[in-house]
Amino acid sequence: MINLEVWKKLHDELTDANTTLIAVSKKKPASDIKALYDAGQRDFGENYVQELVAKQQELPTDIQWHYIGHLQSNKVKYIAPFVHLIHAVDSFKLLKEINKQAANNNRTIDVLLQMYIADEDTKFGMDEKEILDLLEYYTAQINDLKNVRICGLMGMASNTSDTEKVKAEFARLHNFFIHLAETTFFNKPYFAIRSIGMSADYKTAIAAGSNMVRIGSMLFGSRN
Ligand SMILES: *Cc1c(COP(=O)(O)O)cnc(C)c1O
Repeated sequence: MINLEVWKKLHDELTDANTTLIAVSKKKPASDIKALYDAGQRDFGENYVQELVAKQQELPTDIQWHYIGHLQSNKVKYIAPFVHLIHAVDSFKLLKEINKQAANNNRTIDVLLQMYIADEDTKFGMDEKEILDLLEYYTAQINDLKNVRICGLMGMASNTSDTEKVKAEFARLHNFFIHLAETTFFNKPYFAIRSIGMSADYKTAIAAGSNMVRIGSMLFGSRN
């Protein structure tokens, strides 16, 4: 069930904080998305390729679709024609495949690199060293990777009520973002996105330097 009051308040709060709201609509019906769309929301996030493709075909074409889940290389082709931003790139192989499918569609696809910041085994992503390794390959092959653009970092904090711990994890991502913005991406203004923060921790994320939050249950209610 969509609560438009909650959306409006959140929208205003995030606009004041210069933070983009991604409404995470996974497992929710197209009718819920349409209700938020009619209120003015344009950025939506999905985790499953088949579900995203079905919704994209059914809903207005000016929606900006964010793929926020773990993406398998063999599925990139299905979303490449329309996806707005891929949040969770965690290997050079995936980056190369996104470039290839973007080229097949005569477009450039924006992506974020997923940084592993949580204290849990279950989450995907790369640590600082793995990101630097990926960027080394990327820089070496940059002439062959013109159809993909790395626009920032994405991360998920530990699932804990310990706000200090969550804050430290987000700060680690933000510090590394700043390092990359001053080195590999020096003078590249498109490298600007810190996609951190979900329903439970978005305020902490904004305080720690987020400028893009991915919020599901707070807007759409809990998922089964
Ligand atoms: C589901 C999901 C979200 C939204 O989580 P909520 O707690 O429902 O706000 C954000 N980011 C990712 C990567 C997700 O998979």
